[in-house]
Amino acid sequence: FVWWYNGHPDYSSLKPDLRRSDTAVILGQGNVALDVARILLRPTTELASTDIARHALSALEESSIRKVYLVGRRGPVQAALTAKELREVLGIKNLHIRIKETDLSVTPADEEEMKNSRARKRIYELLSKAAAAAGTSEADPDQRELHFVFFRQPDRFLESDERRGHVSGVNLEKTVLESVESRKQIAVGTGEFEDISCSMVLKAIGYKSVPINDLPFDHKKGIVPNVRGRVVSQTSGGIPQTEPGLYVCGWLKRGPVGIIATNLYCAEETVASISEDIEEGACESAKAGSKGLLQLLEERNVKK
Ligand code: NAP
Repeated sequence: FVWWYNGHPDYSSLKPDLRRSDTAVILGQGNVALDVARILLRPTTELASTDIARHALSALEESSIRKVYLVGRRGPVQAALTAKELREVLGIKNLHIRIKETDLSVTPADEEEMKNSRARKRIYELLSKAAAAAGTSEADPDQRELHFVFFRQPDRFLESDERRGHVSGVNLEKTVLESVESRKQIAVGTGEFEDISCSMVLKAIGYKSVPINDLPFDHKKGIVPNVRGRVVSQTSGGIPQTEPGLYVCGWLKRGPVGIIATNLYCAEETVASISEDIEEGACESAKAGSKGLLQLLEERNVKK
């Protein structure tokens, strides 16, 4: 879905059904989940001035989705969001934020987590403030709703009786938090369940890169092994051997973490490695560069 609205060529024909009902459920409470909620809920008049893929904008203009449930298996203190991204969503015009008051009560273990992380505390405060503001605002018929659902883990998808093979909801198990290590709290199922009806469920519970052709790949970490962006083809006597002219950056280089700025620094590091290698003549056996790319595109009849 993210690739669809970001214009990834392989997913431009995804055609998500945005007109079946007014409700979508997003599993996960990280920045990807938040980004998807933003796309579903932000007025299309505002999306129109962004670089969203045009096919996605047209589909969203016809969308009937008005309610989005963002489901997290832990609490507001553990939501994997960052403040800037959360503020952007909380600032969407005519968006009613719904958070159960009981979900905002904190335990001593939560207090401890917030004491150890300003970022966690900030997110908790932003969510509490949004919940309080929503509690006093007037209902508006045009309003869209974003429900932060905490302490629920997905158990199974519900199948529509009328449309076999299509989703009609999600069954969620209530959870409680248990401290495992000194600072980490994990979600544990309670055996109590509830459903949310919806016509669309999107999973945003993290990402793992996939290997590319014959490139070396660390399956456990989901990365191409590298030293400052230089691809490591093998290790000899404990020393990594890099592949001349082959580089990696982004999530394939360091795993699926970090905000946009992290990717900028990551790319700069790889580019610095490439520059150093060019200066030292270590890339002589390497590929033909931009000229080679243009030639390849021409051979394959790719439109420029
Ligand atoms: P993420 O930050 O790791 O969040 C994953 C979410 O899914 C968490 O709420 C996690 O809960 C939950 N989850 C994981 N496994 C689950 C399971 N089995 N059942 C239920 N819930 C589960 O991943 P992400 O949202 O894909 O983001 C990846 C990285 O990209 C992050 O570093 C993010 O900040 C970044 N990003 C940045 C931007 C931006 O800069 N604007 C935009 C999008 C993404 P637990 O915490 O309980 O595991």
